[in-house]
Amino acid sequence: MYIEVKNACKKFTQEGKEFTALDNVSLEIEKGEFICLLGPSGCGKSTLLNALAGFEKINSGSVKINGKEVTAPSIDNITIFQNYGLLPWRTVRKNVELGLESKKVPKSERETIAKKYIDLVGLSGFEKRHPKQLSGGQQQRVSIARGLAVDPDIIFMDEPFGALDAITRMKLQEDILKISREEKKTVIFVTHDIEEAVFLADRIVVMMADPGRIKSVVKVPLSTHRDRTGEDFLYVRDKIFELFNLKSESYIEYYI
Ligand code: ADP
Ligand code: MG
Repeated sequence: MYIEVKNACKKFTQEGKEFTALDNVSLEIEKGEFICLLGPSGCGKSTLLNALAGFEKINSGSVKINGKEVTAPSIDNITIFQNYGLLPWRTVRKNVELGLESKKVPKSERETIAKKYIDLVGLSGFEKRHPKQLSGGQQQRVSIARGLAVDPDIIFMDEPFGALDAITRMKLQEDILKISREEKKTVIFVTHDIEEAVFLADRIVVMMADPGRIKSVVKVPLSTHRDRTGEDFLYVRDKIFELFNLKSESYIEYYI
């Protein structure tokens, strides 16, 4: 298995009180899958993502990628957050080249690669602008181009479109879906938005809070081309919604 989480537990101490952010979480992910971690605030989505990306150590259990225990962030993977993380003094092109510079890619090659990904995220013509001259959606596109430019194995995204307006969010969802398919990337995407998860995911990992745990893993039975207004789409969305309202305490197998 490409990514394997086994019995992962993570506890935090808050004001002297112990809090279980991950309670015995197990999950397997195949290469090339688009996985959404879905659940209400505080259910451990970011903690699980950070454990996978190597930013956070779990207390017990194991997190493996390609058979190797994750102990630190890897340069083979990238993480995209809600707040874009662009360098304000660099232009769009220079921001996209950032990771390539760390990888010591020669200048002319850097420029070619940067151009390819700036085009891919629909920002050609904006190369010389600085982040403050761009909208939030455009800034997030730069951040996505920068991540893709280093040709990562896995893209980790933590509510990347959370700060954007609904229309921009939908456009970026379409683009990230298309790009992830074209570039054949493995994507682990955190969201609290059911519709976003149904639109994007091959499988949805439904999580619950207190303690943070996986309630169910749902394979989305829709084609790759998804229509948000389609009957089948709305059916799946309602089924996931129902899942959050089920009282069942234990892990449930769920088929739609
Ligand atoms: P989510 O991303 O689903 O909103 P998180 O993974 O961020 O949830 O957090 C899960 C729980 O762990 C929350 O109750 C949060 O307050 C707690 N938590 C997360 N990070 C820390 C930390 N560094 N210190 C203490 N508690 C934390
Ligand atoms: Mg979070």
